[in-house]
Amino acid sequence: MIVPHLTLDKGIIIPQLGFGVFQVPQDQTQRVVEDALEAGYRHIDTAATYGNEAGVGAAIAACGIPREEIFITTKLRNGEQGNAAEAFEASRRALGVDVIDLYLIHWPVPSQGLFVGVWRILEKIYASDGVRAIGVSNFLQEHLDTLLAETAIVPAVNQFELHPTFQQAALSAKTRAHGIAVEAYSPLGRGSDLSAEAVTTLAQKHGVTPAQILLGWHLGVGNIVIPKSVNSRRLRENLAASEVTLSQDELDAITALESGVRIAPDPAEAAFTQM
Ligand code: NAP
Repeated sequence: MIVPHLTLDKGIIIPQLGFGVFQVPQDQTQRVVEDALEAGYRHIDTAATYGNEAGVGAAIAACGIPREEIFITTKLRNGEQGNAAEAFEASRRALGVDVIDLYLIHWPVPSQGLFVGVWRILEKIYASDGVRAIGVSNFLQEHLDTLLAETAIVPAVNQFELHPTFQQAALSAKTRAHGIAVEAYSPLGRGSDLSAEAVTTLAQKHGVTPAQILLGWHLGVGNIVIPKSVNSRRLRENLAASEVTLSQDELDAITALESGVRIAPDPAEAAFTQM
């Protein structure tokens, strides 16, 4: 199976379809990630706050695949925005790697007022070769505006909630307009978008599953996508969406599912400093 790749700023290549490990329990993470790597995933998305970086690292160490063939993303905890350099080192240690491929500010937490200063620290980490690319997550347009106005390096990626019923089209357009790749989290709407009629109809027509139609849509519109599954059959099913090609009319039928209903908290207000 050939998974498509995208090229980020500075020529860094990222598999467009990766594997997310939010809510994968600590004691299952090594097994699940090894299974995902065996299935063919070469892009793993974790975060310090998921508590499972060590399990991801153990799987990467045990799998026998050369380190440079696996793209690893992790994220800075909100509660550690005041000591980002130390938190970055802690993530490297937990993952057991010298270089993290992509390091993200997990949430802007505007009430803390720290994200510009944090980004300047990430710029220094980037200059020191410990990371191949730096980016942001859950940044809305106003947070991007502030960052772009006040700092030097443009984020490689903005990872935010994006699935057919909640697409954040204006944010996507703005993100792309600055040359920042759009990375879709909760790409299946945590399962809630699977039963939409347009999705099930296209699944039947193509002889594939609803999840594969949703992921085929993400790939077709140019999103990086990181579905999560702890189930061996479903994680393979999701990866096989790499081979689903939808016509423009079919993409449009899925795009028409926008309903404006968010699943995750609103980043304008979210302030989980305990995370
Ligand atoms: P998601 O990938 O949209 O959905 C995951 C849910 O769908 C799980 O309940 C999973 O159950 C189920 N599922 C997976 N594949 C399926 C299939 N083929 N058929 C039916 N059900 C299926 O949601 P997510 O976990 O929220 O998002 C994915 C990743 O995005 C996360 O793991 C994380 O890496 C990232 N994320 C980032 C942020 C952020 O703030 N930056 C926030 C949320 C998520 P099973 O596991 O039982 O299969």
